[in-house]
Amino acid sequence: MEELFRKIPQVSKVLEHFKGKYPEELVKRAVREVTQMYREEIREGLRSSVDSIYKDIEKRIGELSSTSLKRVINATGVVINTNLGRAPLHREVVNFIEEIALGYSNLEYDLEDGKRGSRNSHVEELLKELTGAESVLVVNNNAGAVYLVLNTLAREREVVVSRGELVEIGGSFRIPDIMESSGARLREVGTTNRTRVEDYEKAIGEDTALLMKVHRSNFHMEGFVEEVSLEELVLLGKKHRIPTYYDAGSGLLLDLSRFGIKSEEPELGECLRKGIDVVSGSGDKLLGGPQAGVILGKRDLVNAMKRNPMARALRVDKLTLAGLEKTLRLYLEGRAEDIPVLRMLAESPTVLRRRAKKLARMLKRIKGLEVELLKDRAKPGGGSLPQLELETYCVSLKHESMSTEKLSRALRLSEPPVVGRVKRDRLLLDMRTVSDQELKDIFKALSNLKGDRDQD
Ligand SMILES: *Cc1c(COP(=O)(O)O)cnc(C)c1O
Repeated sequence: MEELFRKIPQVSKVLEHFKGKYPEELVKRAVREVTQMYREEIREGLRSSVDSIYKDIEKRIGELSSTSLKRVINATGVVINTNLGRAPLHREVVNFIEEIALGYSNLEYDLEDGKRGSRNSHVEELLKELTGAESVLVVNNNAGAVYLVLNTLAREREVVVSRGELVEIGGSFRIPDIMESSGARLREVGTTNRTRVEDYEKAIGEDTALLMKVHRSNFHMEGFVEEVSLEELVLLGKKHRIPTYYDAGSGLLLDLSRFGIKSEEPELGECLRKGIDVVSGSGDKLLGGPQAGVILGKRDLVNAMKRNPMARALRVDKLTLAGLEKTLRLYLEGRAEDIPVLRMLAESPTVLRRRAKKLARMLKRIKGLEVELLKDRAKPGGGSLPQLELETYCVSLKHESMSTEKLSRALRLSEPPVVGRVKRDRLLLDMRTVSDQELKDIFKALSNLKGDRDQD
């Protein structure tokens, strides 16, 4: 035992060994931890050699220096995947964020006058041009937008909303909870499956501040159903002089049918053209930009929101504004099809098939892996486009000595992690959300499966 303790190298020796290769602080921490572990194991008679200590220290250094937030390869085929960070950004958008992040900017400085400016101004004109809105306010996310709209227009008063639209968006975000915390009182009308405009009208009283409609972003109802259209809601609002608000969810800025996609997803500009007073949506769903909440609508209503002290608490930072401005410019330059989420949604089966074939060919070289090309139908929308199902191509995997569950876990824990979807005891890698550049990473992750004994 004494013999083994003596064989544990001195800290200075280890530091010398890794000098220049890793930061000294990290090496010190790794040495301390691994040495202590070795001592305990020797004391308990669990260890009979210290030969592997350098390897273990290096492994621990690797763990200590790997960030918690990391790039992940999304092979689920779900384009708007909230757990995996929603919309990836265009290269030019990222370059612009970098440029703004590295130095100072005119974030709240009017260069013309040399006076204080508004951060909102950098995206306001662009969004007006894209949607025809009178006024625009961008906040932290769409949940924040819902809160700010209600808190500004309906605090301590009533909001009429359909029972069939009191939805949960995921991550335990429920529309009724947000509404309640905004200080507005919820006046639910209709039933789960049917709400008519008369239900809204009957609920209108002295205290009614707002008529609200919520888009069912993540589910679809069929059968004996009826909902109040935007047009009906607008007419009712006009008749009673009560503002109308539509939480449109995904922040869509164009008609998806130009990509051959049939959808009932509301386009923000279209909602305004139908006469709705205020509409809001997310920046990082079908808009394809960074996380944000976009509020569009009538000047006096949106101006009241800008003056609400909560607007300060919900404001967006400069990196978001940089990302949003550049994304909106891609739309204005007629390059919407280059925006990653739209490009992936619109990707042709021919391209997906070619990518799957290429990956399958690479993976067939790996021993112990059964590899097949699989044509599948899948829902690429995630929290958006609940009905949309598209033809896609996957690489289907089965390992000869590892359960499919273990295989998918091992891939999740590789560097970079690869996340697929399991179907009929096969791990499917869906090519819709994978880029050509990521194929070699997937190959590497699968080649290393057996190499690391700790993997299972
Ligand atoms: C996604 C969604 C939200 C929440 O938007 P975030 O930007 O994630 O805060 C609110 N309402 C609807 C209808 C949604 O689809």
